[in-house]
Amino acid sequence: MKITIFGTGYVGLVTGTCLADVGHDVLCMDVDAEKITRLEAGEIPIYEPGLESMVKHNVGTGRLRFTTDPAEAVAFGVLQFIAVGTPPDEDGSADLQYVLAVADTIGEHMQEDKVIVDKSTVPVGTADKVLAQVQKRLASRGAEFDVEVCSNPEFLKEGAAIEDFTHGARIIVGTNSERVKRLMRECYAPYIRLQEKLMFMDVRAAELTKYAANAMLATKISFMNEIANLAERLGADVEQVRRGIGSDPRIGYHFIYPGCGYGGSCFPKDVQALERTARDVDYQAELLAAVESVNNRQKQTLFSKLANAFDGDLKGRTIALWGLSFKPNTDDMRDAPSRTLMEALWDAGATVQAYDPEAMKECRRLYGERDDLLLAGDRVQAVKGADALVICTEWKEFRSLDFAWLKSQLSMPVIVDGRNLYDPEIVRDAGLMYYAVGRGDSL
Ligand code: NAD
Repeated sequence: MKITIFGTGYVGLVTGTCLADVGHDVLCMDVDAEKITRLEAGEIPIYEPGLESMVKHNVGTGRLRFTTDPAEAVAFGVLQFIAVGTPPDEDGSADLQYVLAVADTIGEHMQEDKVIVDKSTVPVGTADKVLAQVQKRLASRGAEFDVEVCSNPEFLKEGAAIEDFTHGARIIVGTNSERVKRLMRECYAPYIRLQEKLMFMDVRAAELTKYAANAMLATKISFMNEIANLAERLGADVEQVRRGIGSDPRIGYHFIYPGCGYGGSCFPKDVQALERTARDVDYQAELLAAVESVNNRQKQTLFSKLANAFDGDLKGRTIALWGLSFKPNTDDMRDAPSRTLMEALWDAGATVQAYDPEAMKECRRLYGERDDLLLAGDRVQAVKGADALVICTEWKEFRSLDFAWLKSQLSMPVIVDGRNLYDPEIVRDAGLMYYAVGRGDSL
């Protein structure tokens, strides 16, 4: 099948590569010419495990190609996937300008009937807006072609994107058109062993499903952080509580890890956007608003724990920071808790000595050269000469640590652990002060 993908970010590039890998002919289009040049040279602009070799292989077979030419992109695919960003606008609603720009491009260049597949996360009603935009453009050209728009939200996680795309729990397609159903079945046939994995539903239900899934996961995290904050004040260990409730199959162990708040390119903006959508239809989504505000507060906890450990004065201190990405196995720092912490530390006059296995380049891109940000070559260097250590991301390489060595490196024996990686007793026995999340010490 010939498939066009607009947008070569985390979702577009993974989608295009995976679809090429199962035999489809895929053309990926992006307005970012530098990105396309790098991709054509076999260079992957993002860090995603397994993606680089897969892109190279499929480029080699000729089934995966890249372009910046909109006319070529529109002419190519019978299916036109939209996988561009939907960042929050000033009031937190999803900004649809990139999605509608693609719709406009399709309307401008199409010379035959097309099916548009919206993979970006978009508010309920966007499919209608995309269709209206294409039709408006067609009318301005005096052209008449058939256009159908379906919703096909993406559920992949960065860090495990290929596995999620190829072995996802479900593939959702919002459409009532038999023709679109047939085409989407053909597109995803290589991934569907179980018929029920491919779920057809109304387009509005599909659009809402994506937000509902992310909001549910974010709710679990905020709920657990609320319990952790309570546990801290009650002298209970939230890790024991987590094991206690996770064993109930109605609750389960997934997404109940307390920590320093959720970040990334999806949960914060999607919870916010859904809450704003609710407002648009005169509904006060109280639970969603609470999920968001609990998370915003949670992202401040690392700083307040540190500030308390230093009697409120961090001026002139050097803080070692392990983990910059919003979660392990990605270089994505969008809305990462590490950013909230670093920015607060800088405001307080401290210097950050940071290390992350993959996000160093991204950190430099975001913050540039500055005297109060030192990027270390590894976790050992990050700690050298520091006053205290904070852990923001649970990368595997941070899980084991020689605490006696760490104590010898820090001027103050303080670890603030935003991911509850260590056994408090062992850390404290080594003579360190250990401030985790919800583990009995209420600093
Ligand atoms: P991204 O920012 O990584 O990539 C978006 C790409 O679209 C960029 O390369 C940009 O240059 C390109 N683009 C912008 N306008 C364009 C245009 N008119 N034509 C062609 N390309 C254009 O975004 P992402 O993380 O891949 O997310 C894309 C969508 O998928 C969002 O709606 C997001 O919410 C959703 N989503 C993301 C994830 C995730 O984990 N990142 C998971 C599921 C769903």
